[in-house]
Amino acid sequence: MKFETRAIHEGEEPNFKEGGAGDAVIPIHLSSTFGRKEVDVPTQGYEYSRTQNPTRKALEQKLASLENANYGLAFSSGMAAETTVLLSLLKTGDHIIAFDDLYGGTRRLFDKIFHQNFNIQISYVDARNLKEIENSITKNTKLIWLESPTNPLLKICDIAAISEIGKKHSIHVIVDNTFMSPYFQNPLNLGADIVLHSTTKYLNGHSDSVGGCVMLNDKENYEKIKFAQNAAGAILSPFDSYLVSRGIKTLALRMKKHEENASKISHYLQKQKKVLKINYPGLESHPEFKLAKKQMSGFGGMISFELDSDIIGTKKFVENLKYFLIAESLGGVESLIEIPSMMTHAAIPKSDRDKIGLKDNLIRISVGIENIDDLLEDLEQAFNP
Ligand SMILES: *Cc1c(COP(=O)(O)O)cnc(C)c1O
Repeated sequence: MKFETRAIHEGEEPNFKEGGAGDAVIPIHLSSTFGRKEVDVPTQGYEYSRTQNPTRKALEQKLASLENANYGLAFSSGMAAETTVLLSLLKTGDHIIAFDDLYGGTRRLFDKIFHQNFNIQISYVDARNLKEIENSITKNTKLIWLESPTNPLLKICDIAAISEIGKKHSIHVIVDNTFMSPYFQNPLNLGADIVLHSTTKYLNGHSDSVGGCVMLNDKENYEKIKFAQNAAGAILSPFDSYLVSRGIKTLALRMKKHEENASKISHYLQKQKKVLKINYPGLESHPEFKLAKKQMSGFGGMISFELDSDIIGTKKFVENLKYFLIAESLGGVESLIEIPSMMTHAAIPKSDRDKIGLKDNLIRISVGIENIDDLLEDLEQAFNP
């Protein structure tokens, strides 16, 4: 089956057996516990809903198929997915190499919990530079943690080349693929060991559910993470599992439209005198444009740009827009806009923001799937008030 077909059918085989009604859509199984006829035989493997639930299981199967993975696991948030992976694969004293331009919440989890409380060491590097990664490897390095493109600067690293380095040193490479969604990029196919998503974003796609997921091929790591999913308990609820499963059915259509609109907006921004710099992987001016074309099958719907203004002018520009909702998050059908230095990345110290080039006048847009003419007209009135 091709991607669009799997997104719709995988995990949702209609049940035509005795007692089944042939549902076209997986039912929402709200039961917290599952009865059995014989004391030592759980009914079709189900015992208790934290351990496994039929609605979540259907979603996990669908998620695995989207990343061409053997296994998928669904969690109550992207951060819960990250926490469970870290708890499963690390011991006190271990070392992580991470891209220095990461989702703000990931850095907070690394620094304020895993480093401070459990003595996990973290080296933040510019992962576009393979030498920096190799030079940071120690005998305790267990994970290389990547985003590509990064948030909010849309930097791109070579996932295949970094996966080679990981293999050579027996270090797991994990890619947070939230920004591209499985429609535009499949890190496991490029050699990565584990893929992670915040399903809150493109996978669910409608800004009405918080969740996360992990997909992988290795059975041993799957069993470790699955064990921790049950032991720590940060599972996705049956209702949210249904919502994400429903959202995924239109992922391909949505991603195409997100990209089409983002591409048009990026070209519009290029013509604006008040725009100093645009970060969008689909522009030939992007420093990793060639690599983006090679490792992704599209460029996605996220854009960031620097306005020729101070923080007050930047704030005013954003507040003058009508259709771009000022909000954190991304990946929903509606266009969202934000200022990372004041919102999503405000918790990162200014000195660290300066180091990676995240300026106060940077604006991030999650381009929605509204009519492009309305979006362009709105930007036009904000540039020319
Ligand atoms: C939102 C996000 C997360 C965290 O996911 P939640 O569902 O908000 O917990 C992690 N990584 C990236 C890239 C994100 O955008």
